[in-house]
Amino acid sequence: MEEVFKKLKEKHIRLTPQRLAVYEALARENKHLTVEEIYGKIKKRFPAVSLATVYSILELYRKKGIAAEIRITFNRSCFEARTDSHHHFFCRECKKIYDVELRPCPALQAAQVDGHSIEELHGYFYGICRECR
Ligand SMILES: [Zn+2]
Ligand SMILES: [Zn+2]
Repeated sequence: MEEVFKKLKEKHIRLTPQRLAVYEALARENKHLTVEEIYGKIKKRFPAVSLATVYSILELYRKKGIAAEIRITFNRSCFEARTDSHHHFFCRECKKIYDVELRPCPALQAAQVDGHSIEELHGYFYGICRECR
């Protein structure tokens, strides 16, 4: 938790109980959660918080590099507290999203490709996961 305080402070994000709760919900399970799922986790403690509030908090975190947004499925985007570059695998069977670890990519290390500077990289794989196979 201390670490979270530090992180948010560094990025000049004003600490509110709601903002902390959203971050906590994301970081605790280290999973990829939809806005609705995060909302579901905190609404008991913060009945006044709306889905739109949760969304705007996540948007703030995304802009500040505290959370990452993943759009591996068309109809819902997910968020995670992990912000280092990694790829994702989506299982068509169980709908689970897995983190995929990559060997350091030369383009990413140089943060450049064909003279373009890279800010983000998203690799999405689709298939059947090892549990479902
Ligand atoms: Zn699966
Ligand atoms: Zn991930």
